[in-house]
Amino acid sequence: MSPHPHSVSWIDAEPTRPPHAKIVATLGPASDSDEMLEKLIEAGVSIFRLNFSHGSLEEMDNRLAKVRRAIDNSGRCVGILGDLQGPKMRVGIVPDLDEDGGMIVNPGDDIMFRKDQREAEIIDGIPTFGASFDELYNDVLPGQRVLINDGMIRMLAVDQVPGESLRCRVTIGGRITSKKGINLPESELNMPAITEKDWACAKWAAENQLDYVALSFVRTAEEIRELKTRLEEWRPKADEEKYDGIDHSIPVVAKIEKPQAVKNLDDIIEATDAVMVARGDLGVEMDVAKVPVIQKYILSRCNMLGKPVIVATQMLETMIDSVTPTRAEASDVANAVLDGCDAVMLSGETAVGKHPRVVVETMQRIIRVTESRMDDLALNQATPTLKEYPFRSAALAKGVWYMAEELGAKAIAVWSEAGGMARYLSQNNFRVPIYAYTSSKIASRRMALYGGVTPIYTQPPDTGRLRDWTDMVEDLIRSEGITNDGDPVLLVAGKPLGALLAQSTVSILRMGDLSSGFRVSTDL
Ligand code: ATP
Ligand code: MG
Ligand code: MG
Repeated sequence: MSPHPHSVSWIDAEPTRPPHAKIVATLGPASDSDEMLEKLIEAGVSIFRLNFSHGSLEEMDNRLAKVRRAIDNSGRCVGILGDLQGPKMRVGIVPDLDEDGGMIVNPGDDIMFRKDQREAEIIDGIPTFGASFDELYNDVLPGQRVLINDGMIRMLAVDQVPGESLRCRVTIGGRITSKKGINLPESELNMPAITEKDWACAKWAAENQLDYVALSFVRTAEEIRELKTRLEEWRPKADEEKYDGIDHSIPVVAKIEKPQAVKNLDDIIEATDAVMVARGDLGVEMDVAKVPVIQKYILSRCNMLGKPVIVATQMLETMIDSVTPTRAEASDVANAVLDGCDAVMLSGETAVGKHPRVVVETMQRIIRVTESRMDDLALNQATPTLKEYPFRSAALAKGVWYMAEELGAKAIAVWSEAGGMARYLSQNNFRVPIYAYTSSKIASRRMALYGGVTPIYTQPPDTGRLRDWTDMVEDLIRSEGITNDGDPVLLVAGKPLGALLAQSTVSILRMGDLSSGFRVSTDL
């Protein structure tokens, strides 16, 4: 008897193919050791995030050297993203006055922010904190809300001594630790979109050739263009790069966390290289009830316009302490995957959490199980929704998508020296893995963010022949265990392989044909 079409035997099935959605993990004291970095890469981190809000540039030097060493040792293609904090007000240093760290404030208490207060302390019985920008003592009026730690702690401004101090009354209490963000949703702050500190960090990021630079609190496409221009000025340039055909300029990630950014979304997506749904500040800058639908809107626009998109903040937040996620958190990760994100991000979970490796493993498992069910749940879009770009690579990628559907291809292999073809393929929402070969280190690390793409950093066959690359592909795909003999695999070969002067060459490989003797007859 044939199984009932809706039988649930799949519940026990193990996921097979490599994950489509990538994991971005924030670095911090919990993940700084060589051993932990190795474990996190092993567990599936594709991009490490350096958050410039926490730590000096000297500390970043150390952290970067360590991460780079761990990535090199792993032999995997892992990228590094530097995250500029933008005009975000933050609490200064808070010493551990409570035994569990930081300081506790309670509803009804008064607390004080004071200019030049380096470390928080209790003065005349009032907890007194410093803040990162002096605008706090000028631009916040009595009655306006002062929120700390993505809105977890809530206060109202009581009175202000201009240029000196601000007194607040706590309405919802909690623990305040060093450098926690302060949001002032009602105040008009007189701060630039990209601060002096951001420019210093951007320069450092460019000089150190990070793989991505993210900008917080973006409001307009112009801010993205300005950042890209400066990064390009600061980036060290080698003579060879004029000839290697690779775009060396550092790609930028626009963090969407302001109402203005949501209003200008399409322009920002056009100007940027990737997008992040930065839910922490978004949920404070706007009504938290709007966050889920805004997330879905941003994901659908990014998918439509073909830009990689990261979903960030509180994805597995309770795992900062706990070894298991809440059911709601597991659903949150799964839903981001189902909505077509390229990556999901971990913040405090890996930066300061108790179990960074378990968190990454948990996230990876949720991703894999969710993806393994997508086809059967008919949750995939039937056709690519990608906007029609007039570019040859885009047309080719779309063609490959239809071929893959038609043939039931099990994998795509592409020689994408500069990463462009891999990006176009990724944007077409293939639900089969895309193995993207390049001999460029830079391209391989950037491809780490592209959903569905497994970057492979290697030299092309020295014969330069397509046939020899086909051999390499067959060996790799066989070792991945995702095909049986006879299964079709599509090959897309750009420079330096493929047909002379042609854009790219598409061919169909049947697994097993090469090794079963066809090799001799087709080699004529
Ligand atoms: P953003 O608005 O850019 O997300 P954030 O302050 O929320 O900034 P996250 O990277 O989201 O920072 O990390 C969450 C929390 O983990 C931070 O509030 C901070 O307490 C802690 N944290 C992160 N990185 C570090 C670090 N390098 N050193 C110390 N604490 C860190
Ligand atoms: Mg955050
Ligand atoms: Mg933020």
